[in-house]
Amino acid sequence: MFRAAFRKFLEKEAYPHYNDWEKRGIIPRSFWAKMGENGFLCPWVDEKYGGLNADFAYSVVINEELEKVGSSLVGIGLHNDIVTPYIASYGTEEQKQKWLPKCVTGELITAIAMTEPGAGSDLANISTTAVKDGDYYIVNGQKTFITNGIHADLIVVACKTDPQAKPPHRGISLLVVERDTPGFTRGRKLEKVGLHAQDTAELFFQDAKVPAYNLLGEEGKGFYYLMEKLQQERLVVAIAAQTAAEVMFSLTKQYVKQRTAFGKRVSEFQTVQFRLAEMATEIALGRTFVDRVIEEHMAGKQIVTEVSMAKWWITEMAKRVAAEAMQLHGGYGYMEEYEIARRYRDIPVSAIYAGTNEMMKTIIARQLDL
Ligand SMILES: Cc1cc2nc3c(=O)[nH]c(=O)nc-3n(C[C@H](O)[C@H](O)[C@H](O)COP(=O)(O)OP(=O)(O)OC[C@H]3O[C@@H](n4cnc5c(N)ncnc54)[C@H](O)[C@@H]3O)c2cc1C
Repeated sequence: MFRAAFRKFLEKEAYPHYNDWEKRGIIPRSFWAKMGENGFLCPWVDEKYGGLNADFAYSVVINEELEKVGSSLVGIGLHNDIVTPYIASYGTEEQKQKWLPKCVTGELITAIAMTEPGAGSDLANISTTAVKDGDYYIVNGQKTFITNGIHADLIVVACKTDPQAKPPHRGISLLVVERDTPGFTRGRKLEKVGLHAQDTAELFFQDAKVPAYNLLGEEGKGFYYLMEKLQQERLVVAIAAQTAAEVMFSLTKQYVKQRTAFGKRVSEFQTVQFRLAEMATEIALGRTFVDRVIEEHMAGKQIVTEVSMAKWWITEMAKRVAAEAMQLHGGYGYMEEYEIARRYRDIPVSAIYAGTNEMMKTIIARQLDL
């Protein structure tokens, strides 16, 4: 029922506007507000902060249905299931009361800033610093590739409160930087290969004055908090990539069934049938696995290995599906008016963000005790 209600909402509020958002390069804040009004932002948040106290299955439905509209809506899933959970898990009661209700309504849009021009995968070696000065932290540094970077009102920023810490990851803390913080500016909206309506941006901190009150959890624990929350982040990416693969398959099936060549439907050539059969098999394997990982995640199990497996394998599978799907569309697949064109350029980033697939394999290898 929830899925049907959400889909109906998207049919009115998102599908008819999506191509326009892609052209304009941004999703309007009014859409975020409508999501909030209808209970589709952070439904898992406790009722006392304005949420619905819903379980992760609701988030799964939201992420799947948003991905069906288009991958540029990824920033909403990031706000719902990746950033806001930091506030709920590590925030003080006062921070939760201040921020969570507005995350639920969409008055506050969130982002998380880990990556810097000089450090992506090697997160422990970020160089943004936060030096305590009375009731403030003075933040200096630069972040890049930040999802929701233009819209964001609250940004969870990973910074070094102890640059001399050994090992370096012990010096990382998380600070919540608010929109009007003096010394904080945002750069241009970055021009990307895909996800055109997603506002990915650079952020600059020049003696930015962040109240000490905005520290999330304890100083020096930031890296551990990030590691804890990355499990859900990677699962959300796997869910989106799985959904994208299913959408691309369905577009391709419809296309080859109506397109004719050499006097028959393209879907009647055995080579085409075999390729669709192969795609359908890989997609079914991905679905079975991701559904199992979702269940285990909801049961509170520690599934670092499985989530890393799902993230790398499903995103690579979706990339294979995208390449096949475009090929089977012939020249039309290369034309912007066919959805497969944007799906093809949107999917590769899923193998890069939330930890590259190489890092996923590094994690799996470590868990294998090699
Ligand atoms: C559209 C988009 C949105 C993003 N959103 C966010 C966001 O909201 N917040 C945020 O903090 N970041 C975000 N990112 C950044 C993303 O998480 C990083 O790009 C990613 O972690 C990789 O870091 P990097 O780009 O510095 O690549 P690098 O770390 O420089 O890696 C380059 C290559 O080397 C490989 N490599 C690196 N180290 C190893 C190793 N030890 N073993 C084997 N191979 C290795 C990598 O896998 C990769 O193939 C986003 C990126 C994009 C493109």
